[in-house]
Amino acid sequence: MTAELTEPPTVPARTTRRTRILRRVAAPAVLLATAGFVAVAADAADAAAGCRVDYTVNQWSSGFTGNVTITNLGTAINGWTLAWDYAGNQQVTQSWNSSYTQSGAHVTLKDAGYNAAIATNASVSAGFNATYSGSNTAPTAFTLNGVACTGATAPTTAPTTTAPTTTPPTGDPWNPPAKYVGPLASTWQHQEDTYADLYGFRNYLFDQVMAANGSINYCVRWESTATVTATLRDQIQTAVQRQFQKWVDQLNENGTGWNRWPYKQVPVKVVGWAVRDRNQLQWSDSSVDIYVNDINEGAPQCSAPCGRFFHQDGNYSGCPGGAAHHYDLSLWLTQGMGIGGAGGDWGQRIDKDYFVNALNTDNIHILLHEMGHSWGLNDFYDFDPLPSEGFVMKAGSATQITEFDKWMLRDFWRHLKNRYGL
Ligand SMILES: [Zn+2]
Repeated sequence: MTAELTEPPTVPARTTRRTRILRRVAAPAVLLATAGFVAVAADAADAAAGCRVDYTVNQWSSGFTGNVTITNLGTAINGWTLAWDYAGNQQVTQSWNSSYTQSGAHVTLKDAGYNAAIATNASVSAGFNATYSGSNTAPTAFTLNGVACTGATAPTTAPTTTAPTTTPPTGDPWNPPAKYVGPLASTWQHQEDTYADLYGFRNYLFDQVMAANGSINYCVRWESTATVTATLRDQIQTAVQRQFQKWVDQLNENGTGWNRWPYKQVPVKVVGWAVRDRNQLQWSDSSVDIYVNDINEGAPQCSAPCGRFFHQDGNYSGCPGGAAHHYDLSLWLTQGMGIGGAGGDWGQRIDKDYFVNALNTDNIHILLHEMGHSWGLNDFYDFDPLPSEGFVMKAGSATQITEFDKWMLRDFWRHLKNRYGL
């Protein structure tokens, strides 16, 4: 794949909304973040504790991302709690590689289980997002496991530290392979920087699957003059189901949903077809709804009153067949589009001939990539967190979902799951 469209070539009013989660354009806050980048390093040392904390921030007008690197200069520890106090009104809203609590100005970061152990002279890093107003002064003192951590100097008198006797809490099971921890954190940060409303947006594919109790309906937008046999129709249904399940599989581990993901299988049903001319569809049964010559964006469209994109409140009362005939996503197949595609909360758009020719291949990778966008995953044209590896969301670098894609999807899920009380 040499190039990819991230937005449909025509941009009617509704397309703005269709593509909003794809946009790689920086939001205003991001421009400020770039222009106003401030790195604050606070190196603190304590002879007794034998540890050093490097605290850095990347801030914009109303928020910042903080990173702390704890270097253990003393004896090995297993289980850590880092604490500090802010001088201002900084408020932590999220953390990774750690769990956080904040009471007033007092912030506590605890290890995430998998990074509980810190050998002598080893370091662990954790990060967090926070809001602030006014000035964002770095804390000047840290404690590690309750002991002031202020120095790089080796102790001259032995500290009386006690190894924890209880197993550290595991917290959120965020346990990607070590080599992906950093790339995943920077990928999430990139999403925060480039999405207009990462946490407020409520039409990710996660939202759609949850709203439909673990199933997904598609409608095909057939932007082609070709005819379609019942056999081809059924092959398309089968292919979409199989490709969709490949993403769902990433959210399961040994037959169990990862981190409370509730669905092992997500049945996919193509419930409708949109064409210019009914005679293109060579079947007479009523197994799917058929929408004729409802042209939008230059292509046939399935009835808007039946579409999730248009009715995110779930009210399908205007849909001729009622809610049972609604569709969550469009599969938009465009003749002559070439190698490329578009994806978003509205569905996926790819080349008709590419797709028809690939129906029986194991990984229809352009469709997999565009489906990734529907889950919420970003593109990687201007940012590469993992230069040494290909993955399907880095267009053209892999032809199947990889381990890194899997953990990006899981990262999304763990950030969203409390929406559903999970
Ligand atoms: Zn893309």
